[in-house]
Amino acid sequence: MYVKKLDEFYGVTVYALYPNQFMLEGSRGLGRQSYVSSLAKWLVMGILSSQSLFKILTLSRLLLLPEIKYGSGLKGPTSSLSARTLDDLALCRARAFYTIHKEVFSPREVLDMEESKKLGKDFVSSLKHEFSTQSNLNKALNTIMLFREEERYQLLYEGLSGYITCKPDATLILMLRNGLLRVLVVEVAETDVIAVLSSKHIIPRLVLYMSAIYLHYGIPPAGLYVSLSPASEPPALLFLPRGRVSKRLISMLEEVKNLIKLERPPLPGKKITCSHCVYLHKCQYRE
Ligand code: SF4
Repeated sequence: MYVKKLDEFYGVTVYALYPNQFMLEGSRGLGRQSYVSSLAKWLVMGILSSQSLFKILTLSRLLLLPEIKYGSGLKGPTSSLSARTLDDLALCRARAFYTIHKEVFSPREVLDMEESKKLGKDFVSSLKHEFSTQSNLNKALNTIMLFREEERYQLLYEGLSGYITCKPDATLILMLRNGLLRVLVVEVAETDVIAVLSSKHIIPRLVLYMSAIYLHYGIPPAGLYVSLSPASEPPALLFLPRGRVSKRLISMLEEVKNLIKLERPPLPGKKITCSHCVYLHKCQYRE
């Protein structure tokens, strides 16, 4: 695995994770399902044995946001606000408003979405399988201690009534060779890594997940975003907290608070692409 430092967003340093030549050649021409299995195998191999990744994970800091507190445990009320609202907000303010008021503005069904969710679940199963089969390799720098799928964590944010629900695709606790513990928060989607970096969506949500999981386990976290698109280069990003409060994340949460109080959708706020939006059929601002 080749690791390249990219930039800093929302108080986390972003690293690109590239496969080695062997994996690249092995994945050429594979069908979607086989590609996903091969991606999981490569990632697990890299996480367990990459010297550079081991050093980076050692540097992971706490992720404390004083305005955010841990909720009432793993199981909480399902009527709470989903952390996914931050994805909508990063793309369009009107879209975030519709998601917050989803009892009035129900999203349309998107046919590809079910297939995409299934592919994500298949990837997480492959990841789990690879961890259980590769964890005992003699040369491993890290060892997997725990693997959880789709666990729900609840956060409380100052002035927001109700919980913010965080539900990462997978949560792993790793023990590094030097005895340090690290939590890896994994999120999977088909969105290309370049699109994630340019629109900055998914990243604030992942930072929120990391903060929830830090508050739950008390172990320094790192985030992993994996794109299931074979065209994505690189296929994965690692997010490492720098220990500082992200003011941008707080201002996004403040904006969510304001959107809750509004009765009408606000202006989108920036140039947007509406064609894939799930609220296209209801939105007065669609282009
Ligand atoms: S249709 Fe366009 S303007 Fe309306 S919510 Fe969706 S992305 Fe925003």
